[in-house]
Amino acid sequence: MFFHRVPAIVQRLYPNRTWNNKDAEGKVYLTFDDGPVPGVTEFALDQLAKHGMKATFFMVGDNVRKYPELAKEVIAAGHQFGNHTYHHLKGWRTKLEYYFDNFQKCEEIFEQVIGQKSRLFRPPYGLMTGRQMRKISESHQIIMWNVLSGDYDPTLKSDKILENIKKLTDSGAIILFHDQKKTAEVLPKLLPQYLDFVQQSGFETALL
Ligand SMILES: [Zn+2]
Repeated sequence: MFFHRVPAIVQRLYPNRTWNNKDAEGKVYLTFDDGPVPGVTEFALDQLAKHGMKATFFMVGDNVRKYPELAKEVIAAGHQFGNHTYHHLKGWRTKLEYYFDNFQKCEEIFEQVIGQKSRLFRPPYGLMTGRQMRKISESHQIIMWNVLSGDYDPTLKSDKILENIKKLTDSGAIILFHDQKKTAEVLPKLLPQYLDFVQQSGFETALL
């Protein structure tokens, strides 16, 4: 089953995670997962700059190691960053220690490359166990999303994605995009139009 908006019931099951920010009148939160990836992250940065918008990038530690200059560019442009584990781990069926070590390894590379630790975490695939969540939420705010673009799904057409996410964009929405290889083709057909829409609708983008 594919759904663009995370159902309220799912959100209530996980009250410790941030799905949207209902107090944020007139604000939307753009998020990009899985980068930094050459080409794709630059494209996102370029579009955000053109629109004068800010976003939060949930980075994969190993990509920060591979592309440190790109990670620094994201921060230098005034965007927020968060931890997305070092190896993009799926929380389910992964032992707590292993998961936590991988999360820590991602923090270490942030410190080395960016010079600071993060305070936000997003679990890859949106999946993590209750124990993993409790452990990580001791130091990090866990950020989910309530508008899933589906940009990584090759069976979805860009105009359909655009239509759906426009409909769901509302005050306080946290919108999930990906800056990774799988979205390299669709983002140019999606992101400029969507950012235009956000601007024309009078929403401001804010950092998490
Ligand atoms: Zn991811």
